[in-house]
Amino acid sequence: MATNRTFTMIKPDAVANNHTGKVIDDILNAGFKIIAMKYIHLSTSQAEGFYAVHSERPFFRDLVSFMTSGPIVAAILEKENAVEDFRKLIGATNPANAEEGTIRKKYAKSIDANAIHGSDSDENADIEGNYFFSQFERF
Ligand code: ATP
Ligand code: MG
Repeated sequence: MATNRTFTMIKPDAVANNHTGKVIDDILNAGFKIIAMKYIHLSTSQAEGFYAVHSERPFFRDLVSFMTSGPIVAAILEKENAVEDFRKLIGATNPANAEEGTIRKKYAKSIDANAIHGSDSDENADIEGNYFFSQFERF
């Protein structure tokens, strides 16, 4: 059953390329409300913990190295049907396959530097939001 929250990170490539403001604008214009937000530079162990489900994948080391290459913006977002609608807004993992108008189509260059993360299930949205934010940091 769909809940109303998802978790996102604007990734190091999008932050470094000064796309943060435009990406947040797209998110707000799509009807999402920001529940919590922070600008942080992940440590290696924080990135490894976040992506632990991918630890056996061949691209894991590159993924951790990319995600720690510069600051990110992490946020919890709220909207009806948040997880599914947000995945539609960001587009396919590989920007080459992302639909026109999606955040990855507009701002991402490659499958590794793909501008933004969006939770893939309600359960993961909850786990990921809790990984970054304490109960005192959200409404
Ligand atoms: P995210 O979890 O970042 O929102 P996603 O759910 O679309 O992306 P996942 O399968 O969860 O994709 O992969 C996590 C991240 O790992 C991707 O965003 C991408 O940066 C990287 N990744 C996935 N597949 C590959 C691949 N084949 N080669 C290189 N990097 C990859
Ligand atoms: Mg994913």
